[in-house]
Amino acid sequence: MPRTIIKDAVGKVGERVLVKGWVANRRVHGKIIFIDLRDRTGLLQVVFEPSKKEIYELAGELRSEYVVAVEGTINARPEKMVNKNIASGAVELVAEGLTIINQAKTPPFEIDKDTLKVNEETRLKYRYLDLRTERMNNNIRLRNKTLLFIRNYLSQEDFVEIQTPILSKSTPEGARDYLVPSRLHPGKFFALPQSPQQYKQLLMVAGFERYFQIAPCFRDEDARADRSPGEFYQLDMEMSFVTQDDILNLVEKMFTALVKKFFPEKRITREPWPRIKHNEAMSEYGSDKPDLRENKNDPNELAFTWVVDFPLFVQQTKEDFFYGAGEKYAPSHHMFTAPKEEDVALLDSAPLKVRSYQHDLALNGYEVGGGSIRIHDPKLQEKIFNLIGFSEEQKKQFSHLLEAFEYGVPPHGGIAPGIDRLLMVLTGQPSLKEMIAFPLTGDARDPLMGAPSAVTEGQLKDVHIRLREKDIK
Ligand code: ASP
Repeated sequence: MPRTIIKDAVGKVGERVLVKGWVANRRVHGKIIFIDLRDRTGLLQVVFEPSKKEIYELAGELRSEYVVAVEGTINARPEKMVNKNIASGAVELVAEGLTIINQAKTPPFEIDKDTLKVNEETRLKYRYLDLRTERMNNNIRLRNKTLLFIRNYLSQEDFVEIQTPILSKSTPEGARDYLVPSRLHPGKFFALPQSPQQYKQLLMVAGFERYFQIAPCFRDEDARADRSPGEFYQLDMEMSFVTQDDILNLVEKMFTALVKKFFPEKRITREPWPRIKHNEAMSEYGSDKPDLRENKNDPNELAFTWVVDFPLFVQQTKEDFFYGAGEKYAPSHHMFTAPKEEDVALLDSAPLKVRSYQHDLALNGYEVGGGSIRIHDPKLQEKIFNLIGFSEEQKKQFSHLLEAFEYGVPPHGGIAPGIDRLLMVLTGQPSLKEMIAFPLTGDARDPLMGAPSAVTEGQLKDVHIRLREKDIK
């Protein structure tokens, strides 16, 4: 007999069905054994009556999380037994056959309860069990629906989804790179991309005009609740022949449609979203990601805010380890961001006064995305490199981009909202990790796979690396 999923079993009153799934829980009332069976579509109550001796005895062996197949007849429950909390609450399955497909050990935490309070190490070590819980399961499914929505939306707007390399070269976004040693090129390293920034600009030179990617980004930085160490996902976008307004309007329309579709209970504080100048945000709210909610206790309020007119540079500090040494300027966004036309003249006299075409998206006090109109003039790009204090050697690292710009580069710009971060705020989850299937711990480990891990001498030799004793003690 073919399997029926629980969602469909509900409509089959009086019919015989075969269902398969996990035992969510087991109760005995009087002499009757009840289990809630869980599959990907929901929960179904299954009844084992003592009169069917053989399967009744087998049902006595069932424990939580056993994997089973049950055959039986779907019955309508008597009115007063209807469970309004579950979609299949009006029916139950009276078991006539039972197969235990696989037993299960007692899980380290309760699967039918929210695991937010369970110790993180345990949750991540047994993530496959954590993901069985209703909240986590819903979060991951919501993430999938969101990505599908975005893909469809942008495809209809003529965007092309293009995957850019993971094994690549450092693209500075202000964090440390993850490095991968090369076997074939001793002493050389790939860097995992901090973002596809240079590739997406090259795709504009390539003439695609509208690109997006649900892009994995790798940054070796310390954890905070709204940052995940290691990798995270951005909705990376780039467009040619656009103004800053075009970019902001497109994102605003798309996310408003997304909220209306999947979060109808939410209220957007102000539409269109306010656009605030950086200096006003700082002077009025003391933050470049101001929280403009009217009622911060309302879990259903969403205050999207654009922040624009950022300064192009900040004074470089020692922490800007990437950039050139000396009393120079560090880009406030990244080094490909264009200065505002009316401020270009100030680049020579007062660089810290130059405003840029950077735009950040804030939501309820979190930064959920940033981007800019880019420089598309190789001479201006070189000037910025000089102001940052790049040596000739450092400039050479970007010569491919400058060279590409000599072959007909359209004006272009883009943005990259953080998917995990956006969903965290939309769903009101306390951390990014609640929206990621397999996140790292705060100190950048995966307790489930045991990563990072030591490798063999042979593997190290292959990639021409010898560890220093003092570093591994
Ligand atoms: N690459 C930038 C970032 O990761 C986003 C952008 O400028 O489009 O913040």
